[in-house]
Amino acid sequence: MGKLSNIKPMLGTIAPRLHPPPKVADRFYLSREWRALVARLKRERGNWCEQCGSSHRIIGDHIVERRDGGADLDPANVMLLCFTCHQRKTALARARRARGQIG
Ligand SMILES: [Zn+2]
Repeated sequence: MGKLSNIKPMLGTIAPRLHPPPKVADRFYLSREWRALVARLKRERGNWCEQCGSSHRIIGDHIVERRDGGADLDPANVMLLCFTCHQRKTALARARRARGQIG
């Protein structure tokens, strides 16, 4: 049984790599490519919310979220939203996901 107990600790170090932590997604939103795209869209579309027209705290948001298979840097998949609309959309998406529906 001595040999088996040597194998188990090794498996423990391999397993976490198969499940990247959800924080990985956050790093994308700090990338130069993403920031440049959002800056460009703000210039092209105007610096306001595409949902309610507010100009308060405008951020780029993926229409189809990346975790749901949406394109990272496709302008057609990016919408400019104010902070409030973004929070609302994120909450709705989370609720949908919790019910096992996507999109
Ligand atoms: Zn809004």
